[in-house]
Amino acid sequence: MLKATQMMVFYENMLALNNISVQCDENQIVGIFGANSAGKSTLMYALSGIMLDIRKKEKMAGGERITVNGEIRFNNKDISNLKPSLRAKSGIVLCPERRRIFDESTVLENLKIGGYLATKAQARETLAYILDVFPSLDRLKDRVGGFLSGGEQQMLAIGRALMAQPKMLLLDEPLMGLSPLMQATLIKATKAIQVEKKISIIISEQYARPVFPIVDYAYILENGSAVMEGTREELMNNPDVKAAYFGV
Ligand code: ATP
Repeated sequence: MLKATQMMVFYENMLALNNISVQCDENQIVGIFGANSAGKSTLMYALSGIMLDIRKKEKMAGGERITVNGEIRFNNKDISNLKPSLRAKSGIVLCPERRRIFDESTVLENLKIGGYLATKAQARETLAYILDVFPSLDRLKDRVGGFLSGGEQQMLAIGRALMAQPKMLLLDEPLMGLSPLMQATLIKATKAIQVEKKISIIISEQYARPVFPIVDYAYILENGSAVMEGTREELMNNPDVKAAYFGV
């Protein structure tokens, strides 16, 4: 479904992604794990195409030179040079790190903004689904985004991404800064979204442990390189992975 081959990203001379190839098949959940600065967000920006916009903006501002190499295919079509808005339209939707919701708009308004690509019927149906999978948002419909807790904001950010009718949802560090209980709630909802909406999901996180139970396949990034990959079972049974990422 989504396949990136030999991705290289340089910020000036700094190599942020070093020859990374990742793949997410239909109806899979794929994990991207790695410490701070490993390259998770850079990979998400490359997959969603936002990297092309960042590169353009930097160039116009006379800022740093960003180089992106590699091939990205979605449903067997080369989308390497497709701009992010058209990738979103074709079904690749990024839910960015740090949520980026509209603080002064209500929960309902935030969700409706996300539905700009949807037909009226799709928007209505998706909204009902979001309020069902995240019942807290139903109770908070009229509250402004800025007054939500971190976990509620994350639910809203995922909800807003769902309104864009993704086929491939990219979740960049959705658990950052949240309590273990909230993390568990979000992971359960993520799994439900994959099963009930048949959406493929790539999820990046610093800590593998809370996400691991729902991934089909995962990649482990270190300093911009994929140092390990495998199915959940393969990685779970790998003593190096256990020691480094699960502390056992
Ligand atoms: P985190 O968990 O902290 O979000 P990450 O795994 O998402 O980390 P990236 O944000 O992709 O990592 O960063 C990878 C590397 O690229 C880091 O060393 C970072 O400092 C660098 N980097 C990211 N964005 C830029 C930029 N615009 N200009 C220069 N260097 C950058």
